[in-house]
Amino acid sequence: MSEEKDKKKPKEKSKKKKAARSLYKVEKSGTVTSTRRPCPRCEKGTYMAEHYNRFACGRCGYTEFKRKS
Ligand SMILES: [Zn+2]
Repeated sequence: MSEEKDKKKPKEKSKKKKAARSLYKVEKSGTVTSTRRPCPRCEKGTYMAEHYNRFACGRCGYTEFKRKS
């Protein structure tokens, strides 16, 4: 009846799960850096949202433009 009785499903190659908004980035050197910038105006723990060309704090409205590299 069931042809796939004991047929194991092929193990999926361990796909890297999408790190949903990982807050930290680990450099090759092992340094852990925050991928988000803390807001200089707000208290600690307040981070700014990253946009393609700037960071913006949703709390106080502070905006910091990215430097052109
Ligand atoms: Zn702020």
